[in-house]
Amino acid sequence: MQDKNVPTADQVVARSAAIRLGIVGVGKIVRDQHLPAIHAHPGFVLKASASPRSRIEGIANFTTVEAMLAGAELDAVAVCTPPQVRCQAARAALAAGKHVLLEKPPCLTTAELSQLECFARDQGRTLFQTWHSRYAPGVAPAGDWLRGRSIRGVRIEWKEDVRRWHPGQTWIWQPGGLGVFDPGINALSILTAILDEPLHMHSAQLLFPANCQAPIAAELLLGANGIAAIEASFDFRQTGPQTWDISVTAASGEVLKLSRGGSRLEVDGQVVVDLPEREYAAIYERFAGLIAAGESEVDARPFQLVADAFLIAARGVTEPFHDEPVAS
Ligand code: NAP
Repeated sequence: MQDKNVPTADQVVARSAAIRLGIVGVGKIVRDQHLPAIHAHPGFVLKASASPRSRIEGIANFTTVEAMLAGAELDAVAVCTPPQVRCQAARAALAAGKHVLLEKPPCLTTAELSQLECFARDQGRTLFQTWHSRYAPGVAPAGDWLRGRSIRGVRIEWKEDVRRWHPGQTWIWQPGGLGVFDPGINALSILTAILDEPLHMHSAQLLFPANCQAPIAAELLLGANGIAAIEASFDFRQTGPQTWDISVTAASGEVLKLSRGGSRLEVDGQVVVDLPEREYAAIYERFAGLIAAGESEVDARPFQLVADAFLIAARGVTEPFHDEPVAS
C-alpha cells in the first residue's frame, strides 16, 4: 500500500515544476491546515519558513521574512502571521517578485489592503486574499439557492469558546487583533458571498474585557436594500456546543440554514449538503489557478464591514479576560 506521506513517481515529476512556496508565521493554522493542504497539492513544494520561534522540519527555516526572501529560492509566499504584521510581510514578498497568499483577516487597516492590491498589480504578481470559510461545502450551493430570491431576514450566531480555539493567542486581544471578529469575519465573508445585495453596517454594540483592546462579544445590525433585518451575534464566551450558524428567511417563508461554519446546508429542515470541509485544499487549488492565469483576487467587503462596526460601535466594558479561568 502507498504510504500517503511518500510522494508517488507522478508527484515527484509534477513537483519538479511546482511553485516553490515559503510560509511566514508558523502557528496553529499553518500546522492544522496549510501544511496538509500544501503537501497534498502536487503544484506546490514547501521550501522555507519565516517565524520568530517556530520551525518546520525538513525545510529551510528563518526568523524573519527578509532573511527568508534573501536565503531561499521561492516563487510564492503564504502570509499566516497575526494580522498586525501581515501587510509588511506581504509587501516585502511582492517587492521581491513573489506571488502572495494572505490569510484572513487580510491586513491591519482597509487602506493597507487597497494599497497592497495596487502594489501587487504594479509588481505584476498574484495577490490572493483568502476567505477560507467561503470554501466550506455548503456555501456555494447556498448562494445558488438564494440567487434571485427575495429575502426577509438573516440571523447569524457565531459563538465559540476562545479558550478552546485560541489558547495563548495574546495578539487577538491587542489593537488590530479584532477579538471576536477574528472568527466573526468568517461569517461576514460567507454572508457577502451568498447575498446579491450590497451590505452595510447599521449599528454595532461591542463588549470589551476591561483588560483587553479588542471585543469579546458583538451585537450587529446590518442593512441591505430590500432585506428587513440582518442581525448577527458574535460571542467568544460560548462553552459547551459551539455555534457557527447563518439562517436566511426568504420572503416566501422558506428558511435556508448554514451550520457548522458552512459545511452543512439545510432548506426548510431538509439536509442539502453535509460534507467534511476541505477549505484549504480548495484555497491552494485556487492560488495555483490564479498564478497560472496571472490574476489576483481581493474582496475587501467583509473587512470593510468589520472596520465600520468599530467606527460606529457603542462600547461596553465587561469583566477582565484571562486565558485560564481565574480560581474563585
Ligand atoms: P498563532 O497560532 O498565534 O500563530 C501565529 C504565528 O505567527 C505565531 O506562531 C508566530 O510565530 C508567528 N508570528 C508572529 N509574529 C510574526 C512575525 N513578525 N513574522 C513572522 N511570524 C510571526 O495564530 P493562528 O491561529 O495560526 O492564526 C494566524 C492567522 O490565521 C490569524 O490571522 C487567524 O485569523 C488566521 N486563521 C486562524 C485559524 C485558526 O483556526 N487558528 C483559522 C483560519 C485563519 P512563532 O511561533 O515563531 O513566534
